[in-house]
Amino acid sequence: MEARIAAPGGDDVKTRLAAILQQQRKAQLLSGPPPAETRIDRMDRLLALIRGNAKSLADAVADDYGHRSREETMIADVAASVESLEHARRHLRGWMKDKRRGVRFPLGILGARAWIRFQPKGVIGVISPWNFPVNLAVSPLAGVLAAGNRAMLKPSEFTPATSALLARLFRETFDETEVAVVTGGVEVGTAFSRLPFDHLVFTGATGVARKVMSAAAESLVPLTLELGGKSPVIVSRSADLNDAALKVMAGKLFNAGQVCLAPDYALVPAEQLESFAAKCQEAAAQLYPRLQDNPDYSAIIHDGHAKRLQEYVGDALSMGARVIEINPGREDFGDPSNRKFPPALILGSTDAMKIMQEEIFGPLLPLRPYQRIEEAIAEVNGRARPLALYYFGRDAVEEEQVLNMTVSGGVTLNDILLHATVEDLPFGGIGPSGMGRYHGVHGFREFSHAKAVYRQSRAKAVVEFFRPPYGERTRKRIATLARLR
Ligand code: NAD
Repeated sequence: MEARIAAPGGDDVKTRLAAILQQQRKAQLLSGPPPAETRIDRMDRLLALIRGNAKSLADAVADDYGHRSREETMIADVAASVESLEHARRHLRGWMKDKRRGVRFPLGILGARAWIRFQPKGVIGVISPWNFPVNLAVSPLAGVLAAGNRAMLKPSEFTPATSALLARLFRETFDETEVAVVTGGVEVGTAFSRLPFDHLVFTGATGVARKVMSAAAESLVPLTLELGGKSPVIVSRSADLNDAALKVMAGKLFNAGQVCLAPDYALVPAEQLESFAAKCQEAAAQLYPRLQDNPDYSAIIHDGHAKRLQEYVGDALSMGARVIEINPGREDFGDPSNRKFPPALILGSTDAMKIMQEEIFGPLLPLRPYQRIEEAIAEVNGRARPLALYYFGRDAVEEEQVLNMTVSGGVTLNDILLHATVEDLPFGGIGPSGMGRYHGVHGFREFSHAKAVYRQSRAKAVVEFFRPPYGERTRKRIATLARLR
């Protein structure tokens, strides 16, 4: 199918996409909401697709990146996808059950009933990015399929080998009316986001999300936007600095910083800033003693992103920042063709620098001083609401203050990224870092229509008071209902 979709000609693309959507919608209307067995069968087939092709998927991702750590692909793409699917599979029957709701007195005791029925929304579009090209396609699909929907997936053009492999594997595993994969770049993405889906999940950049949201507005398509932003780390005076430095650098350098949840900048007590910087350098060297030929250290996805990171460094240097490059093996990074980018700490950054204005999405980490915890909190609150926030410390009062006084999609205390690995927690941003949520039951509910159902009591007298002609008995009832006396 991808060959047909990738063919040039905007109208061909639109027609083909619209045809797939129409076929899926027709099939869904004919079949009605699929029973648990059908949903489990779809998830089982997807599980088998991932497990049976883990090696080829890791090869394809490595091909796309130039170099991508195989273990990183296995952890964040393969194992994470399996976890989402297995969790959904395990809990599905409980999630699908109608949920009874209370009916106010006296209707409830007279036999009136109310409940929520979770109904599949229908056909759901999924647009995914390149940084975890398998998991960010499959993990939303776990919720989409668990909720009984059909799906169209548009993976990223920046991972052409992975996207082509996913297209082939899905075609072999699913009927096109169950899950269809369409590949292509911005043109296909634009046409895709204009389709009148029953719901659209977009994972990608905040700037692109604005376009997706305005395209979806044409048909009032409900959206889940999974975006990025500048996720802060707050290092408390009560923190174990060695532990914090190791975890911050491990989180920062995973996939060479190309993670939506990567720490984007760290706020450190002013008097500990130099010491923390030294510990971060030691930690990075311990994790990656060499970089160029180290199979654990991933490359930057493409030259454009490597150039962007180089520009952030140049801009910061030209405006007076101190850049501490971490190159423990004293390797030569002169050859840009392999796209390995050395980590660096940036001290003395200001808000005028690009590095403090844009999401970094690479192995650069500004360290910024603070005096009082209130200043650190104010700095976080002065910026767009982030996808994640990290707090390192042992001070319970301060921890509570940070939790209460900042707003972020999620929080991990005393580590990095881990809240996103708990399938039972909602995953998503807030404001410019995203809207809506998925993972576990939260995904099931996001991709279901929570239909309100009410069945009336057979006791006639109960509602008669509220029908005209109104009289004294009605007014008395209203007074009781509204507790007017
Ligand atoms: P991107 O926004 O450039 O691309 C994402 C997808 O959107 C791709 O499939 C692309 O083809 C498509 N696209 C591009 N232009 C489009 C348009 N005009 N209309 C419709 N679709 C279009 O993002 P990216 O560079 O692939 O990924 C990096 C970004 O994604 C970062 O900002 C990162 O923080 C974010 N991200 C967020 C999460 C999350 O779960 N919150 C996860 C991973 C990445």
